Amino acid sequence: MNPAPESRLVIHRTEDYNARMSILPYTHRHVQEIRAYQPGKPIEETARELGLRPEDIVKLASNENPLGASPKAVEAMQRALQSSHLYPDGSAFELRSKIAAKFGVRLEQTAVGSGSSEMIELLCHTCLGEGKELIAAKYSFTMYPLMCKLFGARYVEVDNKPDWSHDLQGMLRAITPQTRLIFITNPTNPVGTMVGQDELDAFMQAVPDHVMVAFDEAYIDFAGQQPDTLRYVKRGQNAVVMRTFSKAYGLAGIRAGFVITTEEIAGLLHKVRSPFNMSSPAQAAALAALDDEQHVQKSVRLVHEGMEQYEQAFKNRGISYIPSSGNFILVNVGQGARVFQECLRRGVIIRPMDGYGLKEYVRITIGTREQNEKCLAALDAALAL
Ligand SMILES: *Cc1c(COP(=O)(O)O)cnc(C)c1O
Repeated sequence: MNPAPESRLVIHRTEDYNARMSILPYTHRHVQEIRAYQPGKPIEETARELGLRPEDIVKLASNENPLGASPKAVEAMQRALQSSHLYPDGSAFELRSKIAAKFGVRLEQTAVGSGSSEMIELLCHTCLGEGKELIAAKYSFTMYPLMCKLFGARYVEVDNKPDWSHDLQGMLRAITPQTRLIFITNPTNPVGTMVGQDELDAFMQAVPDHVMVAFDEAYIDFAGQQPDTLRYVKRGQNAVVMRTFSKAYGLAGIRAGFVITTEEIAGLLHKVRSPFNMSSPAQAAALAALDDEQHVQKSVRLVHEGMEQYEQAFKNRGISYIPSSGNFILVNVGQGARVFQECLRRGVIIRPMDGYGLKEYVRITIGTREQNEKCLAALDAALAL
């Protein structure tokens, strides 16, 4: 006898909500396997746990700008709030026009979004999938493996050179017919090293056409020598220059970033992004921030002064560190997790590096002179224990 048609349609349903099945087996396998991104410990959370006032806590854990945002950006956002009931310009025409003019490219070669993090996701979305590969340096941004795995692709890690910089020749050797995307983080996070123009030129000369090369330049404003990577874009190579407003521009909380690339790649990113991926206040803030070069210069100067302060202090104490071109410094304190906890107890949030496989290190963001002094005092206390 044939079963009744409706019995073929088996729907699990239970009235007992306590006995309900987990939805997990029915979700995306790649999502189940991902380990969520671990951000720097927030100030409010720390204040709650320690019973301290938020203003007594120094956070030097997420490479934020201690001077804050440009006052012009804040003003522009306040004005933009008046139009909160309207959808933002989905094409971000004004902001992208300004970026295009500033960097000497066409509007069609630009794309903007909610920070570099979103741009990384969009890049992965355009070219990664099952069986495809992404190559990055072992010591670089943890967002890359996360996004790579989200799209089911294989993450290929190339060890850094003994001086901690990217091994570009090693990365070339790791390329296979399945490689789709390479990230070059310059300066790189968390170590702060850079690769120079000649090395980059040689790399771009050799990289095959089926591979997209993304230059993550989140910290480029702090670097003394800034290699020209736009030349590869202008030459028509499959290169993507990624910038963010989160660091030197001091707008980490606003979520704003952009890329400059070929018209072809930008076109793909526009197809993948959600239609209103940057809010009107964020667009206004970014636009105003680009006009306030003075604020960026002031921020960069502060970082250079603070870097000297730390280097001198570490030399005096015989503590080894990795010379950095970013707004942070990686220091060898022996037991990173313990020192992180001890500093935390003293109201100073730094970043433990276990997640990066650098257990002996902590990463410290360069703050104001006073913040740096407080951090060094906390480190001294932690290391004396
Ligand atoms: C901080 C950082 C970014 C910026 O991320 P946003 O999403 O723009 O805040 C990008 N790349 C690296 C390597 C970073 O450290």
